[in-house]
Amino acid sequence: MITFSSLSLREELTRAVADLGFETPTPIQQKVIPHLLSQPSDIIGLAQTGTGKTAAFGLPLLHHTDVAQKHVQALVLSPTRELCMQIQEEFKKYGAHMRGLKTTAVYGGVPISGQLREVRANPQIIVATPGRLIDLLERKALSLEQVQYLVLDEADEMLNMGFREDIEFILKSSPAREFTWLFSATMNNDVRNIAKRYMTGWKEFSVGGANVTNENIDHQYYVTNHHNRFETLRRLLDFTPGIYGIIFTRTKQDCQDTSEKLMRMGYHVSPLHGDMDQKMRSKVMERFKSKALQCIVATDVAARGIDVNDITHVINYELPDDPEVYTHRSGRTGRAGKSGICMSIVSPKEISSIRQIERIVKARFIRSDIPDGAEVVRKRLFHYLEKIETAKPKGDFAAVYQASIHERFEEMDKDELIRRLIWLQLKETIDAYQDAEDLNAGYENKGGSKGAGSSRTSVRLFINLGIKDGITTPDRLMQFITESTDIEPGLVERITVRDLSSFFNVSASAAEFIVTTLSAKKFKGRKVRLEEAEQRTGGDRPERSGSGGGDRGGYGGGRSYGGGGGRGGSRSEGGSGSGRGSYGSREGRGGAKGSGKRY
Ligand code: AMP
Repeated sequence: MITFSSLSLREELTRAVADLGFETPTPIQQKVIPHLLSQPSDIIGLAQTGTGKTAAFGLPLLHHTDVAQKHVQALVLSPTRELCMQIQEEFKKYGAHMRGLKTTAVYGGVPISGQLREVRANPQIIVATPGRLIDLLERKALSLEQVQYLVLDEADEMLNMGFREDIEFILKSSPAREFTWLFSATMNNDVRNIAKRYMTGWKEFSVGGANVTNENIDHQYYVTNHHNRFETLRRLLDFTPGIYGIIFTRTKQDCQDTSEKLMRMGYHVSPLHGDMDQKMRSKVMERFKSKALQCIVATDVAARGIDVNDITHVINYELPDDPEVYTHRSGRTGRAGKSGICMSIVSPKEISSIRQIERIVKARFIRSDIPDGAEVVRKRLFHYLEKIETAKPKGDFAAVYQASIHERFEEMDKDELIRRLIWLQLKETIDAYQDAEDLNAGYENKGGSKGAGSSRTSVRLFINLGIKDGITTPDRLMQFITESTDIEPGLVERITVRDLSSFFNVSASAAEFIVTTLSAKKFKGRKVRLEEAEQRTGGDRPERSGSGGGDRGGYGGGRSYGGGGGRGGSRSEGGSGSGRGSYGSREGRGGAKGSGKRY
């Protein structure tokens, strides 16, 4: 029988494993560890979470680490921050007796400053999500020049999440890499392609259970607070250029509203629901089939008639109540032997519903991080580069102008020209995502949902309720807001109650939701009105031109808070709330700029 002490791991590791109470190596460990200790090579390990795969690559990685060398020797890439943290925790336990060992985990969604300090302190091992790692590389906070060992953990998942370009960039940025160890629950063409391009003479190891999820559909879920649902949808759409999908909503109204909002922002989508007559629905389907539409936003009933084979993504804007319905929805993708992805946007409270659906669907659901702004920009950059690379301009296109084009740019360096073209293409995305908030929620202690005051894009809102209306204390107002909107109390800050009105701060991303929801309410029979009290500092985005040439086409960057009309300036708190003007939508300032073609 193979035991840990027979594996010839360095003594500190054998001791740590014994401390942890591990008795025998798991099957994947029994196969992989001896190989990686005695004759290291590139490997592919087909194993799922729970098989002990982290130790299967972690113990050999630590075994080969030279603690005397103070530079990054090994890098582990993993798809999500949760997994990064887990791997880091495991490594800490395994390396507990290795003096001088330093491992650092870096992942998005938390301030980068602490991680900058940590990577500059010369760890030997870094565990990272691709996005945050590239962010740190761009800041020149660390170098991968001397990385010898690179582990791709849950490679299939990273690829499903759209990180192919990021992974390739990292692989290309590690010139001294001697060994690449790729771990994946499933083997598909994308994984194989990475192996073919970046690995040599690899050996494959698999354990029972691997490949069992060889289904065509990958199930992912994204956790965000309720008021960030729409923002999350947008971000996922922006992060998935080339998406051809169905977005499911629960009600016809949601279907119409969500679709209209997306259309106003320049996305090529259309609603499909039962209140539309047959002629209109057929027209939508025609446009969808001809790919004039990138997505349709549909209710379950209306979606029954959709018979399209190459849908790449199904997005559950809201989870269905019935898990059976989930199966119907997700089954719209991954048809005819193709692979597909089903993404669900859920609130922290709905994670338990995911577990329930998981059991019924009998599939593994992966919690994925909502990409941050830099990841979205990078994704669209790489997508654009690929489009340039594969473009086939018509034969004599611009031939007649060739001489004048040449003359005009003769003096300009090629790189500078490319830089400018890319800038023109991406500037709207770059602007829009410059200070993009972390939309992830439900991470214990890792606060995806920051308090309003800590956000740079905090908004002060005016509400037409005050002491004379019975809002006698800040607590009373807090109670009204939280009960009416179901948001967490932590999102509301700096409440000031006056005679006829009150003020409070919320994060910019929550403002739209709060204004829309509360504006539909009455308080003691009086219609509630809200508006922005003063300009945000630091976070107000410049108005964008709706030019169709840019990457985001008709992106409407400014926030449009509910209702129509473009009245009402900013309300000053100094005005003591005497005026009870109606809430002025900022629609006119940028919410409705859907012009140019987006895709
Ligand atoms: P993983 O598949 O890497 O996510 O590991 C699943 C869990 O199994 C982790 O909590 C490990 O600490 C634990 N584990 C890994 N190897 C062993 C082992 N040989 N014996 C007992 N537990 C293990």
